[in-house]
Amino acid sequence: MDIFERIKNHPGPLEKYADYAEGDYVFPVLEGEISPRMKFKGDEMIIWSINNYLGLANHPEVRKADADAAAKYGMAYPMGARAMSGQTPYHAELERQLAEFAQKEAAYLLNFGYQGMLSIIDALVSKNDVIVYDVDSHACIVDGVRLHFGKRFTYQHNNIESLEKNLQRATKNAAETEGGILVITEGVFGMRGEQGKLKEIVELKKKYNFRLLVDDAHGFGTLGKTGAGTGEEQGCQDSIDMYFSTFSKSMAGVGAFIAADKGIIKFLKYNLRSQIFAKSLPMPMVIGSLKRLELIKAKPELKAKLWHNVTRLQTGLKERGFNIGNTNTCVTPVYLQGSPIEATLLIKDLREKYKIFTSVVVYPVIPKGIILLRLIPTAAHSDEDIDKTLYAFESVRDKLVNGIYKKEEENLHLNL
Ligand code: PMP
Repeated sequence: MDIFERIKNHPGPLEKYADYAEGDYVFPVLEGEISPRMKFKGDEMIIWSINNYLGLANHPEVRKADADAAAKYGMAYPMGARAMSGQTPYHAELERQLAEFAQKEAAYLLNFGYQGMLSIIDALVSKNDVIVYDVDSHACIVDGVRLHFGKRFTYQHNNIESLEKNLQRATKNAAETEGGILVITEGVFGMRGEQGKLKEIVELKKKYNFRLLVDDAHGFGTLGKTGAGTGEEQGCQDSIDMYFSTFSKSMAGVGAFIAADKGIIKFLKYNLRSQIFAKSLPMPMVIGSLKRLELIKAKPELKAKLWHNVTRLQTGLKERGFNIGNTNTCVTPVYLQGSPIEATLLIKDLREKYKIFTSVVVYPVIPKGIILLRLIPTAAHSDEDIDKTLYAFESVRDKLVNGIYKKEEENLHLNL
């Protein structure tokens, strides 16, 4: 069958909603300065869907550093891959500072988190090795594992017993192939907001021989005494063999990094295909990231304000009887029950009537019948933003429970 023919007839689980949802629930356009108040379709909204945890996206010093670097170097410099012609002292300095901040010997920059993670997994394992990873891992981990020719086992989400069972299987397999074992988890699971059980995972190193790779996209800058992430929070940063984070959340930028022992970083510098065969990060991203890191270190009050807001929001939701699952991080999921269309009608109401903008996740990303509204509090939100949101959430939940959106859904006569 012709590829285009097949694609036309099989649009995929999300694309089938495209005509109904595009511009509203997927690919919405938010306008204005990145902040808790942005415009959607001309109306100012309270925004809960941007991972600008520390409020740095719009910090005047960050904006100035980005602009000055762009004025001085443009967006092109340096040209070529790092290994060929794209090296600068700024790239090396950012790596030195990231390593120090992440409490590791060395670090290496990645142009994107998603591609970087794929490539790290690809570079680290040979076909004789076994990968064991949390079943709820981010797509960049899942897709990286797909590149692996050897055995791979998932363990139940954050379930240490299940991990141990799979480590036993992996140990047997690895003994047969004379390979090693790589365990991969997230530091913070970005949908549900649970911390990965890093402390318990590293305890298993006493019984099993494996290396641990942690994707701490949501932990970096938000958890731990200095903001060094989930490992620091749980007191086990030392035992994380490879610490990965993206710049697209707390750092409010573009890029990512991996930090580990010198020898591992040296290996990755010479073997990471996503960097060897790609242009170096442009100068404004590098100089801008140095400024962001400087502020994260110099302004602990940003993290303190973030956590004030997290606590106010999560406590307020719980007091009002909302189910926010097992979050122990800033990521704030609100679980409701209803169909995907009820979910969109609720979101529409939240936006049009209450001027609240949140992301919504429905089947097939999560099980059928569950609606997940995901709130990302930031240091930039105010108490007023939170209180208005709590009020609005109570109102739309009442309508959902009383079947108001269900009736609207029936009246739509959608043929999905
Ligand atoms: N890992 C996790 C856990 C993420 O949430 C994301 C999404 N930002 C990535 C990796 C990918 O990072 P990037 O946006 O830099 O590609």
